[in-house]
Amino acid sequence: MARQSAAKKKVEPDKNGLIVVGGAGGFIAGALVRYFHDRGFTRIRAVDKKPLPEWYQHVPGVESLCLDLSEQENCERACEGAYEVYNLAADMGGMGFIERFRIECLRSVLINTHLIEAANRAGAQRYFYSSSACAYNTELQKDPKVRALKESDAYPAMAERGYGWEKLFSEMVCQEYWAERGMKTFIARFHNVYGPHGTWDGGREKAPAAISRKVIEAKDTGNHTITIWGDGTPTRSFMYIDDCVKGIDMIAHCEELIATPINLGSSELVSINELVDIVETIGRIKLKREYDPTAPRGVAGRNSDNTMIQSILHWEPRTSLRKGMAKTYAWIAEQYADRKAGKRTVS
Ligand code: NAD
Repeated sequence: MARQSAAKKKVEPDKNGLIVVGGAGGFIAGALVRYFHDRGFTRIRAVDKKPLPEWYQHVPGVESLCLDLSEQENCERACEGAYEVYNLAADMGGMGFIERFRIECLRSVLINTHLIEAANRAGAQRYFYSSSACAYNTELQKDPKVRALKESDAYPAMAERGYGWEKLFSEMVCQEYWAERGMKTFIARFHNVYGPHGTWDGGREKAPAAISRKVIEAKDTGNHTITIWGDGTPTRSFMYIDDCVKGIDMIAHCEELIATPINLGSSELVSINELVDIVETIGRIKLKREYDPTAPRGVAGRNSDNTMIQSILHWEPRTSLRKGMAKTYAWIAEQYADRKAGKRTVS
């Protein structure tokens, strides 16, 4: 972009500046709030439209507001005094959600549209947008032995219907706020993120959580059968939540990445069948597999090409799937037991 001649240096953020995090009642933004808090940021404002008791995480000392960020005046309220703004608010879920609720996904455009304008008017120094690998051209994802997607593969555009197009358009909005108004914007294209404190039931959960829950359920009920969506051959990569929040911080504070979409994902490609193998090993059980060809299945293959993140940040998400899934499985098992005991759980 035109203004990219900005110095390539990394910046150290002011730990007393007000950090505003949208979508903080959810999975990734909840973890991001905790991350900034644990690193000594003193002023954090967490915002989500969900009522506070339904938030996945509550971090002490953080200002928590229940506001619908698709409304302009709520975005203005959220951004008052903001030093940095992180937009992770979106109506989203796994394949089961984004294939069925495309209008809801598209309507998230209102969130980014109002939030970036409010951030700019409030004089925020930096604005981060959580895009997705669903913004990539679907024509390139028709084979499970997929070539990993590099940043230039979003164009010519043929994003995933609904959700992917909203991401691509909102990326462009962020790029133009830099080009025309000089606000530093940062855009990460997340590839599937998983880990503790995420949705694990109810229809919005993604494959790692859904498979963990099904294995835990099978062990608990004694019905040793697992239903897998599709035929188990589609491939994906999965990024552990700790890598995701670290990556967000690194991207949002790298001058070389202003207004430049970048992959934030693991490059460890596995098929859904292999993911089930991993969870079965963790759960110490072997289940009979049944395949549901009518269920939503998404593209045939998708992986993250990490050449760009390695060359600019000298880093990439590295938590192995085996290690990350062991932690995720243990957390979902706890949630499952809590729910069975009548205690409140996150989903
Ligand atoms: P999540 O559903 O756990 O969190 C999103 C939060 O946004 C929810 O708590 C929801 O209540 C909130 N929200 C929705 N509409 C809102 C509104 N109008 N005003 C205020 N809050 C609103 O999802 P997540 O997995 O934490 O995803 C965070 C971001 O990362 C989203 O932009 C998502 O599209 C993106 N992303 C996630 C993944 C993934 O694998 N989880 C992959 C690619 C991109």
